Amino acid sequence: MVPRIDVRTALAKKNYTGELNFSFDADNGLIDIPYVEISSPIRAALHYEIFADDTVEVTGKISFTLKGLCSRCLAETEEEIGFAAEGVFAPDPKDEEYGYANGFIDLGEFLRDSVLFALPSRLLCKNCTEEESE
Ligand SMILES: [Zn+2]
Repeated sequence: MVPRIDVRTALAKKNYTGELNFSFDADNGLIDIPYVEISSPIRAALHYEIFADDTVEVTGKISFTLKGLCSRCLAETEEEIGFAAEGVFAPDPKDEEYGYANGFIDLGEFLRDSVLFALPSRLLCKNCTEEESE
C-alpha cells in the first residue's frame, strides 16, 4: 500500500519531517524491455520535509529486482535496481513540481515517475556485462 502524506495533521503536530517505509506492487506496463518484468514488490524508503510555504520535499530510495531474459543472450537473469528518488510537492505546483490538494499528498505519480527513471534500457546477465566491459 502506498501511504499518503497528511500535511495538515503533520503541521498541526509540528512534525515537519517524517519517514515513510513501504512497498507497493509494480506496474509492469512501465517496462519497455522484452521478456523482463519487475519482481514485486517495489520497496520505498522515503524522507519528507514540509516547508513554511506548504511545499513538501520528498527524497529517498526506491529499489526493486528486475527479472527475466538477458537482452543479449536470452539467459535467465536478474538485477537489483536502486534509485535515488526526489520530488517536490506544492498546493500550487510550478514547473517540475507535483501538485497536492486538501492537505493530502498522493505519492502515486511520483513513484511511477521514479520507477520509470530507475529502469535501465536493457537487462544483461553477468557474462554479457563482463564481456561488454572488456
Ligand atoms: Zn547474457
